[in-house]
Amino acid sequence: MTYVIAEPCVDVMDQACVAVCPVDCIQFEEGVDRTLFIDPDECIDCGACEPECPTAAIFPEDSVPGDQAKYTELNALWFSDKDAARAMLNEITPACRAAP
Ligand code: SF4
Repeated sequence: MTYVIAEPCVDVMDQACVAVCPVDCIQFEEGVDRTLFIDPDECIDCGACEPECPTAAIFPEDSVPGDQAKYTELNALWFSDKDAARAMLNEITPACRAAP
C-alpha cells in the first residue's frame, strides 16, 4: 500500500509532511508543481505525514475519498512522467482552483 496526497494540497503545498517523512518520498518541483506527490514505490506506510497536514490532504490508499480517487494514479504518475501528471492535475482540478 501507500499513502496518497489528494485534492486539498493543490495550490496550498504546506510541506509539513516533507519534514516528517523518514524515507523522503514526498516530492515536488519548486515553482512548477501545484501539489506534492508521494512515491508509492518508496512509501513505507508509516503514517507520519497524515496528521501533519493542515489541510488533511493525505490518506492511506484504501481511504482516499471516492471523488478524489484519481489522485492515487496522479501521485504515482508524477514519478514516471512529470509532464503527464501536471496535465492530469489541471484536468481533474476544479477550474476555480486552477486559476492563478
Ligand atoms: Fe512518508 Fe510515511 Fe507518509 Fe509514506 S506514510 S509518505 S513513508 S511519512
